[in-house]
Amino acid sequence: TRALCWFRRDLRLDDHAPLSQALINHDEIHCVFVFDTTILDALPRQDRRVEFIWHAVAELKETLRQQGSDLIVEHGDPATLIPRLAHRLGAHAVYCAEDYEPAARQRDTRVAETLKQAGIAFHALKDQVIFAKDEILTAAGRPYTVFTPYKNAWLARLHPRDYATWESKTLVSRLARHDDTLVMPSLDQLGFGDTDLCTLRLPLGTSGAETLLKDFLERMDDYAQTRDFPGIKGVSYLSPHLRFGTLSIRRLVKHALEHGGDGASTWLSELIWREFYQQLLWHFPHAATTSFKPEYRDLAFENDTARFEAWREGATGYPIVDAAMRQLKRSGWMHNRLRMIVASFLVKDLLIDWRWGERHFAELLLDFDLAANNGGWQWAASTGCDAQPYFRIFNPVTQSERFDPEGHFIRRYVPELATLDKRAIHAPWKAKVLPAGFTLGRDYPFPIVDHAAQREKALALFGKREG
Ligand code: FAD
Repeated sequence: TRALCWFRRDLRLDDHAPLSQALINHDEIHCVFVFDTTILDALPRQDRRVEFIWHAVAELKETLRQQGSDLIVEHGDPATLIPRLAHRLGAHAVYCAEDYEPAARQRDTRVAETLKQAGIAFHALKDQVIFAKDEILTAAGRPYTVFTPYKNAWLARLHPRDYATWESKTLVSRLARHDDTLVMPSLDQLGFGDTDLCTLRLPLGTSGAETLLKDFLERMDDYAQTRDFPGIKGVSYLSPHLRFGTLSIRRLVKHALEHGGDGASTWLSELIWREFYQQLLWHFPHAATTSFKPEYRDLAFENDTARFEAWREGATGYPIVDAAMRQLKRSGWMHNRLRMIVASFLVKDLLIDWRWGERHFAELLLDFDLAANNGGWQWAASTGCDAQPYFRIFNPVTQSERFDPEGHFIRRYVPELATLDKRAIHAPWKAKVLPAGFTLGRDYPFPIVDHAAQREKALALFGKREG
């Protein structure tokens, strides 16, 4: 029998659950990727993510070509295209990796219904997580809403079969033969212009993911000590690859467990955070649009557009915030410690609705993932599910002194401050002496708000809801 394997955010052949299942159950497998117009139409005409995907798809296609097969690449609405293609190929089933985002779930339901009418089965299989949806529940059968008990339950349930890798790469020689190369639309034909993606230090495709992984495995022991310092190469930088599935989560978990030690176990915790937020979004899809905690819905944020603009552009006068926001703009990525700092700053210093910040991140992050981004923003805004009290407010200056003590990171992204020493650089407006030739207000802005005053306002704003 024949089957179609539909690639989405799982752009690899190695350890691929749906492909592997399809190969086990069917004799002839065709592979397809759809550039989905329902997603692409809403994006600006230059988008690093589209280009990242394009490169990953091109590499996937080339690897399949080398095996005598090919990747069918379509452009349009998958809800129509996938059933049509499955029908045209005479497929008995369509296989794909299960997606937990609300829009993807709706799309898959539509595809499954159309396929069913044509007598074609639809198999959405767990692939992007170790434990999906309702596999980790409390004793009362409810979803966890606090991370640590979730993590403990996750670890207690973990068995080697949960991260055993799927045999798929070695089987690809059994895929449907394609003697003539199938055409793949160029970025231009998809309606997108080139971005600066290729000039960033982000290796692309599955080969790029392997390069990053290899590099990180050598540094994994130091992860617990270095992960919070944006000026140090401490983290894995794998997030865009995890987002688009150019690496499998099972392999990463396996590496962490086999490696052992503090670094590896701290890193494993981060991978568990990823799953925590994914299951949360599955169980509480309302959080995608509003506060998880009902008491923090419709807070009276000030939402000053000029301040929002200063935040977006990295011109708030708080060096660590500005450096972080410029890193995001320049590279499409931001260090986790900085994501926490700038998110707290937007909500609790600028008193701007966390959803504005969430949207800005969603537009720029190469690793944008609805569950992680929403979870991170709600965590920082204290509107989320965990036990974080609203009065824990990050001080951007002390955070800066602690996590970028020498100011290396700030100097890299805010060159105007390059001549300031490590005492002055975190809060230039407080410095007794500034370098000759440097004038605050001319070369770099004064802070647009006073942290202490804004902190009081934030406490009052949130506190009212507690009372
Ligand atoms: P590492 O430290 O090497 O961690 C390894 C992997 O674990 C990451 O690649 C990621 O997949 C996962 N991970 C790590 N931390 C978290 C976390 N807190 N929540 C969920 N998963 C995590 N991560 C995204 O992947 N996409 C997002 O859109 C996103 N938005 C965020 C927004 C805010 C406000 C905050 C505070 C965090 C956000 N994160 C997001 C989480 C985290 O910042 C990034 O995953 C991390 O910085 C990616 O870098 P890395 O791959 O080097 O991470």
